[in-house]
Amino acid sequence: MKNILIVEDEPGMRMGLKDNLEFEGFSVDYAEDGSAGLQKIRANSYDLVLLDVMLPEISGFEICKTIRKEGIKTPVILLTAKGEEIDKVLGLELGADDYVTKPFSLRELLARIKAVIRRGEQTGNDTLKEEIVTIGKLDINFTTYNSKEKGNDIQMSYKEFEVLHYLWKRKNETVSRDDLLHDIWGHDVYITTRTIDNFILKLRQKIETDSKHPKIILTVHGIGYKMII
Ligand code: CA
Repeated sequence: MKNILIVEDEPGMRMGLKDNLEFEGFSVDYAEDGSAGLQKIRANSYDLVLLDVMLPEISGFEICKTIRKEGIKTPVILLTAKGEEIDKVLGLELGADDYVTKPFSLRELLARIKAVIRRGEQTGNDTLKEEIVTIGKLDINFTTYNSKEKGNDIQMSYKEFEVLHYLWKRKNETVSRDDLLHDIWGHDVYITTRTIDNFILKLRQKIETDSKHPKIILTVHGIGYKMII
């Protein structure tokens, strides 16, 4: 069983995460402030730490910097609040493996947790099978969330990867807008089917040779989309 430490000062968030992660089969420990968190990371061996940035006593950034200096390699995902001017690059330079911005969906968090744990295991274990596929112009690695066109990195957002992966897993099937809305965005209430159409437009521009005449992500009128591979 994978072992996760949550360092989070907001009780609701802390206990909500604990319950959800336990439900997903993780063993969960928690700390309520920065110094308790730091002590726990030093004293125990976790598969992953979910580390809030704004914490009493010692910030998440400080903790991250400190443990990396001490040679502790435990994977870290930073939890940042929307509106906090959090520099992703700064967090990653300080040694965090990834970050999520509150409010996040449980689904997104779980995907990131699994990806970071898998990457951590991979460093000691080369047998992991990565999911690498070619979709149109892009070579996409769904394990590490990388995409390349003729060897050059192409920037894609997490959600773009998720939508593409969803369509890929259901290739040659019709996927309704409602399915995408429900399964990818979940409880994010401000998303409309229009947002999904915009996502598809952006994806087409990245993968299709001629995005005005798509051959890979087809529109199924009145229903949704179909990926033809
Ligand atoms: Ca906080």
